[in-house]
Order: sequence, then C-alpha cells, then structure tokens
Amino acid sequence: MLMRSASTVASTVGSAVAVSGVMSFFACFAAALLLSSECLVIPVAGVSREALRDTYDEARSGGRPHDAIDILAPRGTPVLAAVDGTIRKLFTSKPGGLTIYEFDESGTFVYYYAHLDRYASIREGDRVHCGDVIGYVGTTGNAAANTPHLHFAVEKLPATKEWWKGVAVNPYPLLRSRAVTLERSVSVPMP
Ligand SMILES: [Zn+2]
Repeated sequence: MLMRSASTVASTVGSAVAVSGVMSFFACFAAALLLSSECLVIPVAGVSREALRDTYDEARSGGRPHDAIDILAPRGTPVLAAVDGTIRKLFTSKPGGLTIYEFDESGTFVYYYAHLDRYASIREGDRVHCGDVIGYVGTTGNAAANTPHLHFAVEKLPATKEWWKGVAVNPYPLLRSRAVTLERSVSVPMP
C-alpha cells in the first residue's frame, strides 16, 4: 500500500511538471516535501484542488463556526490520510458521526475526518502514510442524508497533546496550494 501510494503521488507530481512550467515550482516544492515524507494528499480520492470549496467560515446550526471544509463526494468514496501520521483516536460523536483523529508525525497538528460511512481496517495507534485509505465518505452524525461529504479539519495541538483540544486552522489554502489528488480505482464493497 505504501509503495503504491508513493508511486501514484510521484506520477501525479511528474505529470504536473510536464503539463505546466508555471506549476513546476509547486510540483518541485511538493516533490521536496515528499522526499522529506511531508506529503499532503487531498483526503478524498479523485477530488482535484480546483474542486475544493472554502467553507471554513460558513456558519452552522446554533451559530457554531464551521472551522473545517466539506468535501463532497459519492457515498463510499475512499477517504485518504492527508499526511503521514498516527491514528490517535476513532471516535463517534453526535455531530461528527464516525470520526478519525490523526496526529501528524511530530504531533504538531491533528487531522480530523468526520461523517464517515465506515472505517477502513484501521485501529488506534496505527501508523498511516499519506494516501492510505482510512475510511469511506458518508453521512453519519449531523450530515444531510442526501449530501455525503467529508468534513475535514486541521487543528494545532496544545503542548499537552489532547486530541480534542486543538485550535482550528483553515485547511483550504494548504490543500489548494499543494495537495495532490490520488485516484482510487478500487471497487468499494457496499454494506
Ligand atoms: Zn462540515
């Protein structure tokens, strides 16, 4: 899985170099990050940077801030680890439904994936690599049943590293500027 993910990322970066000289700076930047194992993947398979929408500042019910972006995709689309890291917590909450909290390698940021239809075969404590399938898009929690999407948040962890105490940062500019798209042609077994 690791090698396959890495080669897919590398070929994506390579084609970006070929397609556009303007993009080459960003592609080289992405490649350098890959080499330092700080790759960044759009966390829903097959979604391009251009398809992302910045919904970070949209209000939610009760005046809550969104503090995340929603990535729409058909139910069952693979959800991918955005970065290398560790599955810190699998948690079910009323608003988020089935959720994953992934710490990055340094424990600086926590990556939060919510409304999952189901988990992939992962357990708390597992090391994952960017691009690994960790779950599937769904509508658990307070997501509308007819609008499957991944609710994706990035939070800076406090020094004490509690997974639920991060301070949100907007993941949109980061994903939009340099995240790579991974295609997943695997057929998704429906429950
Ligand atoms: Zn959301």
